[in-house]
Amino acid sequence: MRKALGHTHRITSVACALYNGSRILALSTNGASVHAERNATGIAKYPAGAVAYVARARKDGSRGLARPCPVCRGRLILAGVVRVYYTTYTGYAMEELPQPARRYPPLIQGEQYA
Ligand SMILES: [Zn+2]
Repeated sequence: MRKALGHTHRITSVACALYNGSRILALSTNGASVHAERNATGIAKYPAGAVAYVARARKDGSRGLARPCPVCRGRLILAGVVRVYYTTYTGYAMEELPQPARRYPPLIQGEQYA
């Protein structure tokens, strides 16, 4: 969480860090129209099993609510992120994410899901 908070700045106040164990997979901020979580899941090569830390810092330096929006929550789930920690006004909160349903039938070699 400290890493994500440290990555926030005045213009793009939300940052997202993806970790797998102690290994950092991605560190991103909000873009002009892209949320930090979406950037992070785009950067990480193998986000499955990762833990996301999403931080929002307000202009006065205090923490804001950084609960992922429904779109980003869906992206985190599809990327296989297992848990997300996000800042709240008073500290932080944690949510275990559901794992995507296993897809059946299994892929035939050379076949791809749309
Ligand atoms: Zn979002």
